[in-house]
Amino acid sequence: AIEMSYQSKQTHVFKVVILGESRVGKTSILLRFLKNQFNENLGTSIGAVFFAHTIEFDNYFVKLDIWDTAGQERYDSLAPIYYKGADAAIIVYDITSQSSLSRAQAWVDQLEKEEAPQVMAFIGNKCDCEPQRKVPTEVGRSYAQEHECLFMETSAKQGTNIRSLFDTIARALPHQQQQDQKNSNTIDPSSRKSDDSGCKC
Ligand code: GDP
Repeated sequence: AIEMSYQSKQTHVFKVVILGESRVGKTSILLRFLKNQFNENLGTSIGAVFFAHTIEFDNYFVKLDIWDTAGQERYDSLAPIYYKGADAAIIVYDITSQSSLSRAQAWVDQLEKEEAPQVMAFIGNKCDCEPQRKVPTEVGRSYAQEHECLFMETSAKQGTNIRSLFDTIARALPHQQQQDQKNSNTIDPSSRKSDDSGCKC
């Protein structure tokens, strides 16, 4: 959707969902991005499930309506309405957990079978935990490349690549197109290219 702002710059609004196994750090990534906070003892039932964040570019704003699962994925009961119609999906695994990688790959498969979002980001979180690493960076990156996903390793704890993740998504979304074109099924492959920025920690 397009809204006009007081500065008469257009605001392009996109639905963004964050998916992945329970405890990989989805809420922590959002908390770091939106409030620059990190909580070691984050409970699984955090109240808020919906956030909006606007990023300003030279000639336009991108407003991301970001949906968090509020832990529903623990019960394997994530309602399709949660991710249907998403413009972008952030699919998160934990680099210290092989099972979380499989779950993330299953999410990509599922989105591809249904109606894939225009932008998918495949994210290896907890890259501050290098000694416990189970998933090599190259494994995540090559999977992401095969599936035309952006790729990054992040740390919500240290803030590594968190801002960059959302900036890259906002830039990759096809903001120049009109809404009716955006809703057609044409996917611009250039909007789903891989990102090379690995974790610096
Ligand atoms: P969610 O269930 O996917 O939303 O995961 P949470 O955000 O609730 O995080 C689960 C646990 O992992 C919490 O104890 C967080 O403090 C911890 N955590 C999240 N992100 C990171 C990270 O980047 N590094 C480390 N070391 N721990 C993290």
